[in-house]
Amino acid sequence: MTRKVIVLGETRDGELRNVSFEGIAAARTIAEGGQVTAVLLGESVSQLAPTVIQYGADRAVVVEDSQLAGYTPDGFSQALLAVLEQEKPDAIIFGHTALGKDLSAKIASKLGSGLISDVVAIEVAGGNIVFTRPIYSGKAFEKKIITDGIIVASIRPNNISPLEKNAARSGEVSSISVDIKDLRTIVKEVAKKAVKGVDLSEAKVIIAGGRGVKSEEGFKPLQELAEVLGGAVGASRGACDAEYCDYSLQIGQTGKVVTPDLYIACGISGAIQHLAGMSNSKVVVAINKDPEANIFKVADYGIVGDLFEVVPMLTEEFKSLLVKA
Ligand SMILES: Cc1cc2nc3c(=O)[nH]c(=O)nc-3n(C[C@H](O)[C@H](O)[C@H](O)COP(=O)(O)OP(=O)(O)OC[C@H]3O[C@@H](n4cnc5c(N)ncnc54)[C@H](O)[C@@H]3O)c2cc1C
Repeated sequence: MTRKVIVLGETRDGELRNVSFEGIAAARTIAEGGQVTAVLLGESVSQLAPTVIQYGADRAVVVEDSQLAGYTPDGFSQALLAVLEQEKPDAIIFGHTALGKDLSAKIASKLGSGLISDVVAIEVAGGNIVFTRPIYSGKAFEKKIITDGIIVASIRPNNISPLEKNAARSGEVSSISVDIKDLRTIVKEVAKKAVKGVDLSEAKVIIAGGRGVKSEEGFKPLQELAEVLGGAVGASRGACDAEYCDYSLQIGQTGKVVTPDLYIACGISGAIQHLAGMSNSKVVVAINKDPEANIFKVADYGIVGDLFEVVPMLTEEFKSLLVKA
């Protein structure tokens, strides 16, 4: 059965987020040969339309309005519902990001549909689209299908591989004008925390520090290793509570959920609440002085040792490998 699938192309600072390309790949699976349309909402987003097509969308629909310059649930839902009214899709895909979590729930409720959130894998089986999502803080996975109505799902960033970009791909780009009105919230100003380097939720490599890092200064060797590997620095709640770093770095049940290719946990004991945010990483390396630390149970590679000796050694080793390469 072929399907018409809509993907929300999410942007930040004028650029498409990776999860948008992952959403297009997910949509291609769900479409089963049908049509994939990327929707771009914002003040000035039409220049991004060729990119979503190059990543596998057949077409792009753009809604541009100064009231969409910043995300508001009212503004974005009015714009997206107008597109859905016109397109009448069988499925809608969002990124499981702060924006996607908020908007997907609102849209699903407006459509009277169910929502499958935080999807990590999608397959076609027996004519059904089967969605896999983690439950119980990542300790188990459930498989779900939607049996009736429009499929609405949000996909966890960094889990579904995007399709390869094909610069030669072309497709139709159309725009809709929507009368956006009665906004109950207006974004007046965005005060951003200064985040240096790679975004934690989309990083392919994360070097995370725990209470074992012992101080704000103790994060420096981790930052150096992250820089060499082109990765981001994360933290346990223990390190955040101890004021060694900002809470925006916290990974875990009450922090960010990450799935990088490589996660290096330094001086983190491996409490269940921390594992909930990182245990689906593709390769986990743990560095801990305590050979009994729980983190070693989820680690693919374990180094029993003092992080202040091991991390600088790794940095030097990676530096020399990269120079040779
Ligand atoms: C409701 C709730 C929600 C929570 N949410 C989260 C969450 O989202 N994320 C999260 O992380 N935690 C969360 N926690 C807290 C969690 O239970 C742990 O307290 C926390 O993860 C511990 O942080 P830690 O591993 O850095 O510290 P610790 O448990 O103190 O571990 C420090 C580790 O560092 C090692 N170490 C010390 N010095 C060195 C050295 N020089 N070299 C190498 N290793 C060294 C020690 O052997 C130890 O294993 C939550 C707790 C609750 C109750």
